[in-house]
Amino acid sequence: MRIVIKIGTSSLTYATGQLNYRHIGIMTDIICDLKNMGNEVVVVSSGASGVGMGKLELSRKPPESAKKRVLAASGQSGLMAMYEDFFGRYNCKIAQVLLTKSDLKKPEKAKSITRSFEEMFNYGVLPIVNENDVIASDDPNSDDMFGDNDTLSAEVAAFIKADVLVIWSDIDGLYTKDPRSNPDAEFIHVVPKVTDEIYQMAGGAGTARGMGGMRTKLNAAVIANNAGVDMIISNSEKPELLYDLMEGKSIGTLFQKNKEYKQGE
Ligand code: GLU
Repeated sequence: MRIVIKIGTSSLTYATGQLNYRHIGIMTDIICDLKNMGNEVVVVSSGASGVGMGKLELSRKPPESAKKRVLAASGQSGLMAMYEDFFGRYNCKIAQVLLTKSDLKKPEKAKSITRSFEEMFNYGVLPIVNENDVIASDDPNSDDMFGDNDTLSAEVAAFIKADVLVIWSDIDGLYTKDPRSNPDAEFIHVVPKVTDEIYQMAGGAGTARGMGGMRTKLNAAVIANNAGVDMIISNSEKPELLYDLMEGKSIGTLFQKNKEYKQGE
């Protein structure tokens, strides 16, 4: 199975902004295991800006784009060093892939990116993808920025024709209402199509630490599903659910791929 797993900043850090090593250890162990089972795994990881904030001893993200880029630049190397340590414990080889949105749209670049992914799979290397925040243009007319890693992970899953995209979130999946403020909220196991009604269930903002929220996850589902890729929102506190997924059991909320999608579209 070809599987893309999105890890957000809130799954990597405590509310203090510091790295949650215990949890990172559990998540990375399971990812190594999935690879050892013979799956082709790609991780899309946020956290560059978060790690950069710690490195530069800032308590808040600066509003200026150029300064935010410095956070990402200083944090990305630390993020990868952290992954080298954790994945290295099991000799699970990793590679860094930094993408901007326009890269995937330019045919000549897209061809190289496709070949790079194929060779990483051939070498048994685990690609760890993030947005190339340092060079992504934030000009609203440029269409160069993903802006959040939910979208990035969906574009990557679509691009490499993954079987499934798993977005690890701080919640079990999609509810009819926000369960934190509505005790009568009902859990939704399967979403055959993302409709306006589904969007209404999503509410607004995300967490304080990451860029995404339920709405960006639904946007991601639309991108993945329209490209023939199933998407699952699952709780990052329960990463072992991925073993259930491998056994064909249902986990989290499944957003079903568009069945009318045909290869090559
Ligand atoms: N690319 C950003 C980072 O690594 C994260 C974007 C997001 O949180 O979705 O800091």
